Amino acid sequence: MSTEIRRYVRSLGLDAYVVGGAVRDELLGIEHADEDFLVPGVDHAGLRAALEPHGAVEDMEVHGQLVGVRFYPRDRAIRALAPAGIELTPPRKERSVGPGHRDFEIVADPTVSIADDMARRDFTVNAMARRLETGELVDPFGGLEHLERRELHTVGRDSFREDPLRILRGLRLLSQLSFTLTDETLGQMRAEAPGLRHVSAERIGGGLAADGMGELSKLLLGTQPAKALRLARDTGALVQFLPEYEAAIGYELRTERQPAPLDEHLFEVVQSTADAEDELSVRLAALLHDLGKPDADRSGEDHAQLGAVIAGRVLRRLRYPNALRQEVARLVGGHAFHLDGTIDGLFARRFLASHGIERARRLVAHKRADLAAKVVEPWEHEHLAVLERRLEEERDSPHRLAQLAVDGNDLIEVGYREGPALGEELARLLDIVIDDPVANDRATLLEEARRCLA
Ligand code: ATP
Ligand code: MG
Repeated sequence: MSTEIRRYVRSLGLDAYVVGGAVRDELLGIEHADEDFLVPGVDHAGLRAALEPHGAVEDMEVHGQLVGVRFYPRDRAIRALAPAGIELTPPRKERSVGPGHRDFEIVADPTVSIADDMARRDFTVNAMARRLETGELVDPFGGLEHLERRELHTVGRDSFREDPLRILRGLRLLSQLSFTLTDETLGQMRAEAPGLRHVSAERIGGGLAADGMGELSKLLLGTQPAKALRLARDTGALVQFLPEYEAAIGYELRTERQPAPLDEHLFEVVQSTADAEDELSVRLAALLHDLGKPDADRSGEDHAQLGAVIAGRVLRRLRYPNALRQEVARLVGGHAFHLDGTIDGLFARRFLASHGIERARRLVAHKRADLAAKVVEPWEHEHLAVLERRLEEERDSPHRLAQLAVDGNDLIEVGYREGPALGEELARLLDIVIDDPVANDRATLLEEARRCLA
């Protein structure tokens, strides 16, 4: 896909460069979904004018600043390859607008060179450009060498001070690409970590993208999230955007099942969800699931319920989409179920009645990761595997009101009146059917309902 789009952009005759993460990933030999292009020698209006003959052009704004355009080529085949459009920007540089390190804005300027545009970027490995016309690599800060050594270096000494979100971007690159941090970069992170407190929540969490894919999500979805989270903790970055972790760090559980402190347990569970390639909701649940423990230990309340409240609060603050936030809160609230006892069809149907098949699967995924991070006996893993199998066997057995062979109108016909009693009776009939799916038969249930009325 990348070569098609590059060839097309090249055919426009703009002497464009592919830049940033797309170049980094190309050199690493991995696909990069949203390639960015840089067009030299134009300002914003010039870029628009150059593209308009070839398709639709939309202004692209980030935080109220015009950063470039999103381009939808008229060429149908290309449009199908890039349904979200192709992002192109004029060269830009930082312009100081005040005395402080953060008092700058990024402005388009046709006289800015490619190398200067690279200078405003975060990491040397992200500060490379490839000229489509010639294939030449522009690499003013040694990004290629750093890439080969898998090292993360900032472009400038003040990089993290200028934009502390870059700390989190660095940690997520570490998680995604198994990079290492040099002592120098680590020192810069540690020094500037307090600044993360002032970064807007939607840049950290999920707000800007409908799918919830901010930097924290990308970190969790990488292959090495535990390593990145430990560094986030050790540099002081973690508690800046997740102060809920303060009580968890070093909190000793002191049980045989959980010899490690709470934060370590949470990181290990996150790592297990990554190893299992679980989806984002499960990874977020892993990150947050036991944060209710310190409070619960003091108050005697249920740690999962406290955790669900904390998870909801965290994800609301970080501007995650509502549906994802609610799902994660429910996963956290439901994560502490027990597996002792018999895991039979009835257990599975009750589980389905409480959670539905989708969430039930996620709860199983979470539990598997949770058990992997605890010292448990083999039977717990075995019981979980049984539950997983039974859930699939039972997933079409009736466990929701909509699946009941009778509905409210049927009950009214046999003499019920609209109101709470009718709802209770439907719930009772559903319980009967969950206990015994064969009972989900119109005649049987109507007779049952009549009997109860009498
Ligand atoms: P991915 O697309 O996989 O999330 P990416 O590195 O391409 O990773 P983007 O957010 O797409 O990240 O940003 C594209 C490029 O813009 C980066 O590679 C980097 O050069 C630059 N960039 C993005 N955010 C910043 C920032 N906060 N400070 C400096 N440069 C940035
Ligand atoms: Mg990108």
